[in-house]
Amino acid sequence: MRNRNEKNYREASLKIHGLICAKCAREFTHKNRHLLTVHHKDGNPGNNPPDGSNWENLCVYCHDDEHSRGLLGEYLSKDTD
Ligand SMILES: [Zn+2]
Ligand SMILES: [Zn+2]
Repeated sequence: MRNRNEKNYREASLKIHGLICAKCAREFTHKNRHLLTVHHKDGNPGNNPPDGSNWENLCVYCHDDEHSRGLLGEYLSKDTD
């Protein structure tokens, strides 16, 4: 049941925001929707408000980009303490 929740937020986000990348506006179909991923705006994958306010649909390219210049870069440069 708990694992199901993790998948559900993806489905929910795709439903709310549509099959489109929020950054490059590339549109997706059911055939290639696996290339569309859900980004957590606050960087916390555990924060999944049902109204979708923490989600952004990003294609894998934009998602990668987002993390390499933003939050993830910061995470990686910080030592976990
Ligand atoms: Zn994109
Ligand atoms: Zn992300």
